Amino acid sequence: MALPENFLADVARICGAAHLVAGDEVRPIGGAGYRPAASCAPGSADEIAEIVRADDEYAVPILPFGGGTAFDYGEAPPAEALALSMRRLDKLVAYEPADLVVTAQAGMTFGELQAALFEHGQWLPLDAPPEATLGGLLATDRSGPRRLGYGTLRDMLLGLTVVNGDGIARKSGGRVVKNVTGYALEKLHLGALGTLGVITECTFKLRPRPETHSVQELEAPDFAGGFALCRDLAKRLPFAAASAGFPGKPFRAQFAVEASPPDQARVLRELQEAVEKAGAGFAVKELEAEGIEADLAPARPRRLQAVTLTDGRTVEPELAARLAWPARAQDFPAQMQKLDVWAGERGFGLLMAFFDFPTRAVAELYFKLDDGAAAPDLGAVLDALRSEGAAATVVWQAPRLPRERSAFGPPREEWDLMRTLKLALDPRGLLNPGRFVGGF
Ligand SMILES: Cc1cc2nc3c(=O)[nH]c(=O)nc-3n(C[C@H](O)[C@H](O)[C@H](O)COP(=O)(O)OP(=O)(O)OC[C@H]3O[C@@H](n4cnc5c(N)ncnc54)[C@H](O)[C@@H]3O)c2cc1C
Repeated sequence: MALPENFLADVARICGAAHLVAGDEVRPIGGAGYRPAASCAPGSADEIAEIVRADDEYAVPILPFGGGTAFDYGEAPPAEALALSMRRLDKLVAYEPADLVVTAQAGMTFGELQAALFEHGQWLPLDAPPEATLGGLLATDRSGPRRLGYGTLRDMLLGLTVVNGDGIARKSGGRVVKNVTGYALEKLHLGALGTLGVITECTFKLRPRPETHSVQELEAPDFAGGFALCRDLAKRLPFAAASAGFPGKPFRAQFAVEASPPDQARVLRELQEAVEKAGAGFAVKELEAEGIEADLAPARPRRLQAVTLTDGRTVEPELAARLAWPARAQDFPAQMQKLDVWAGERGFGLLMAFFDFPTRAVAELYFKLDDGAAAPDLGAVLDALRSEGAAATVVWQAPRLPRERSAFGPPREEWDLMRTLKLALDPRGLLNPGRFVGGF
């Protein structure tokens, strides 16, 4: 079914026919290859607001997107929709290095912003891929391993301009750290997956870029000893990031050190001493890496490099699903032991997981290697995990796995309140409908 002709004519008039494509020419978005009925690239926030207002009559789902690096996150997108590319909104609006504050349009990529900031020795300390857009970063609010040293995007966000589902652009927050009277509405859009508004402009608090950067890899003879050492080190040394892998034989963990030269030398020395004290089988070495490797692998279709099985066969397992949840370091080892068993029993061939200190667990399930095996049961693994109190969400799943359950788990009491919020900010349910918790 195509979108209403009159609506497409409105969109072409608003953003220019050259910036609208429909039908077979539309390029798929995200790793799962979602193809919307039409896609347009507005050139300003005003054009976005006008498109949303024009849609009041047609109620066509509108799906903003940036780099498409997390487009598969959330519930499945509607079959017929207008995708809204943010990539033409890519300008730096205001940058005052002396104030450590920047305002940029939301379609600017993370890589473009960082390049502009690096020139002044500043940065936004995140682990995101360069092709992700600023609006996409905010809408997904997934923080990576650097959260240990720098906090999350929530701490860096000062203000936003957003076009809500009624087609009105609203500003919240501001350009200084404490200037909000009333509710901090800008924070509502963090992690909302673009269901409450299209983010068009954002202001961030910046950090000076550290003078040194080094990634250290720890090897340990077994998971229990290695993980215990990591917990201790992550608590007492000022790492920028720390991530430990499961199951890992030998066990591997990575630490990022980003500091002034004297501080870096001190941290590296203390790390070396702790590893030597830990005994035989423990070692640490410097890696030539820009960041911690565990989370550099994007949540999109990929294969593990060759894995040699016990019978000598070499295979390349394929990612089936990626799950994430907030976890405590002390619970992670036991959770992983159980998850390893559940995953095996439910048809997954391999579990790879890592823990980003201080509080994030990520597990990747890989397809069973036998040809012709039944589809593994992701829903049952999720149920088991959630019954243990882990609020696991599905970050990505292979298109050929059945999508039976909600990516966000069973309904919770607060979902009614969230629905009220959605209705207030997007009364017609135009923006990313059905993709967030509770199917709104
Ligand atoms: C390996 C890895 C590590 C990462 N580490 C971090 C990290 O440490 N910190 C961090 O913050 N992020 C991190 N990210 C980035 C984050 O998870 C997303 O991949 C990214 O921010 C999505 O940006 P995008 O432009 O590709 O969005 P898309 O994939 O295009 O869209 C993702 C979602 O955002 C919505 N959206 C996109 N643009 C807008 C907009 N302007 N307004 C409203 N909604 C919008 C879409 O509708 C969709 O629901 C990481 C990502 C990866 C792959």
